[in-house]
Amino acid sequence: MTTVNLLDFDLEGLAAFCEKLGEKKFRATQLFRWIHQRGASDFTQMTDLAKSLREKLATTARVEALPVVTQHESKDGTIKWLFDVGDGNAVEAVFIPEDDRGTLCVSSQAGCAVGCRFCSTGHQGFSRNLNTGEIVAQLWFAEHLLRKHLKRNERVISNVVMMGMGEPLQNYSALVPALRTMLDDNAYGLSRRRVTVSTSGVVPMIDRLGTDCAVAMAVSLHAPNDALRDDLVPLNRKYPIAELLEACKRYLAYAPRDFITFEYCMLDGVNDQPEHARQLIELVRKHDVSCKFNLIPFNPFPASGLLRSPQPRVLAFAKTLSEAGLVTTVRKTRGDDIDAACGQLAGDVKDRTRAAERMAQRRATESPIVMHPARKTIPQEH
Ligand code: SAH
Ligand code: SF4
Repeated sequence: MTTVNLLDFDLEGLAAFCEKLGEKKFRATQLFRWIHQRGASDFTQMTDLAKSLREKLATTARVEALPVVTQHESKDGTIKWLFDVGDGNAVEAVFIPEDDRGTLCVSSQAGCAVGCRFCSTGHQGFSRNLNTGEIVAQLWFAEHLLRKHLKRNERVISNVVMMGMGEPLQNYSALVPALRTMLDDNAYGLSRRRVTVSTSGVVPMIDRLGTDCAVAMAVSLHAPNDALRDDLVPLNRKYPIAELLEACKRYLAYAPRDFITFEYCMLDGVNDQPEHARQLIELVRKHDVSCKFNLIPFNPFPASGLLRSPQPRVLAFAKTLSEAGLVTTVRKTRGDDIDAACGQLAGDVKDRTRAAERMAQRRATESPIVMHPARKTIPQEH
């Protein structure tokens, strides 16, 4: 008999599942806490549930994480996991520790259909949507592994950014229950302000997210005019900049923060000139969107044919925006020694092969693999 993976459910879904088993709804809350707050996957551990329920669960349900293919730890503490999602596909999640927070960058799809020119996931093409359980499994696994690893009882991951592989708003029906689980006080209890959906601009879904599950929003803008954005982010041909910015404005009525973050990947000679900064200023003034800019140094990969803007140009661009009153930050690149930086998440089988080569070269900087308990063999990386 096939069993149901309980990571697929938000609390409401789990309550419906419990009702189907003939159980009271409140049992779902207990079960949800065991799974997400305590990281339990074995029903026999859940001692405050009636034995009859545990028995029913044992035959109908499971709590199943994703198999880990590799774990790499950067010198700066960033950890990247590659998870197997079957059929030769893999997705990545990246943990970024900082003094005041721990951020997990989560994937929503294997590959991506948007095909942005500067993104290695985009170059890889689209394989499939992740289901809710596969999105949540990245957080479930990372949070509980890190707690064990760091010997901490309290929360390690305080922020989630949907900035891994894939376009989250093109996988909307799986995304929303995953976000609800992240926010639920009986699960991870993350603040809405600390869960960010990053999108290349799927306008109708921006509107839906506002009413279904408003969280912080980052929009990958990357260009100040449609001609250039059409070329860099092909989805712009469907939802041009003006429509996108109007959707951002509407979203602000629901958003937990009073601004949208615009991500802008700095590409040498392509979108990093003073005239582009001026056009951007005009654009956000015209649409009157409350926003912050986050300039991202481009992480190059050979197939893109693009180069990173030199740092002085990035700083000059930031200065122009700031002087016009736009709050602008330049993203620190983290984990680039393990290819965990933005846009370096490829995650296909080819990448795994390359990962193995890279690992061989970088043994000195990598930490021992800490595999999740379900995995039977511990790969010998060292
Ligand atoms: N699909 C969503 C979220 C995943 S991409 C989106 O596009 O927003 C997360 C962020 O990484 C986006 O801002 C994206 O533009 C950026 N990015 C992609 N490739 C990059 C690269 N090679 N260098 C730097 N940033 C990149
Ligand atoms: Fe997809 Fe985002 Fe990469 Fe564009 S930048 S191809 S939308 S993952």
